[in-house]
Amino acid sequence: QAKKAGKNHFKFYSLNEEDPNFNPLKLGMDLHQAIRKDELILHYQPKVSLHSGKIVGVEALIRWEHPELGLVSPGTFITIAEETGLIIPIGEWVLYTACQQNKRWQQKGFTTTVSVNLSPRQFTQSNLDETVARILLETKLEPQYLELEISENMAGDNERTFTALENLKSLGVRISIDDFGTGYSSLNFLQKFPVDTLKIDRSFVERMQTNEEDKTIVKTIISMAHNLNLNVVAEGIQTKEQLIFLQQHLCDEGQGFFFSKPIQANELEEALLEIQDVVRDFGLSQDVNER
Ligand code: C2E
Ligand code: MG
Ligand code: MG
Ligand code: MG
Repeated sequence: QAKKAGKNHFKFYSLNEEDPNFNPLKLGMDLHQAIRKDELILHYQPKVSLHSGKIVGVEALIRWEHPELGLVSPGTFITIAEETGLIIPIGEWVLYTACQQNKRWQQKGFTTTVSVNLSPRQFTQSNLDETVARILLETKLEPQYLELEISENMAGDNERTFTALENLKSLGVRISIDDFGTGYSSLNFLQKFPVDTLKIDRSFVERMQTNEEDKTIVKTIISMAHNLNLNVVAEGIQTKEQLIFLQQHLCDEGQGFFFSKPIQANELEEALLEIQDVVRDFGLSQDVNER
């Protein structure tokens, strides 16, 4: 039982449908109270430039400190939040908290971009751009330091997606296509739509070492991104070999447990220096020009 581990030692709880503790109705009701009861938290995972070895961004990832279950992962409750509509207030809370945290880091002299995941229901809300604009104003974060991540699966090649992206883009924020390679984006979509970054899905990075086809896919995504003038990020880097392969093939940025797991805001400040040392140890050139 997670609770036994003590308040500050949450076990990372990943419920699934077969788990006797998994009761979507109860979770939905609990989730309703979670914002008010201050049970939601953001962890941040560093995004490292594979050219310079520097941390260039952080991704905000939500967790729920459930009073009985311990730390519940987004994989367990985001779907419930989507189905109940709670994703709208939760999504706003995430945006606000991430922007506010990034502004604080900036005031401490650490300039970085914060990436926030959007869920399908949030993304298709007609006033999402107004919400984002208001939050940027309230937190005083300049728009270029906010990146919105949209999963490839929800970015259909249609007028609606185009308008939504255009409206967000006109605020000056950055747009990233998450889990790239698992959906069906056309080249036309990537060329026409106002997108800044592709994030190679972690499944390709994971299989890269054992599967030649996955290596080819990764190389192809990197060169395609560069030909379209897009920034490319690899997620789920766990080994030195993966890092070296990606660096050799000029992938711009990387994220993964090899550098750091998602951690609390205060821990991230401490991790900053350490990660740069790790990258330097693997001989990443410090003087390659940033793209
Ligand atoms: P994502 O946006 O693709 O985030 C990356 C996920 O991969 C995170 O899982 C992260 O902890 C995990 N990860 C990072 N590096 C590694 C690695 O080296 N190895 C492995 N095995 N995993 C790694 P997490 O935090 O459980 O989030 C899962 C998904 O939940 C996210 O996938 C995102 O789609 C969604 N999510 C997370 N936070 C939010 C949020 O605030 N709002 C919304 N709408 N969705 C969120
Ligand atoms: Mg993401
Ligand atoms: Mg992803
Ligand atoms: Mg995802």
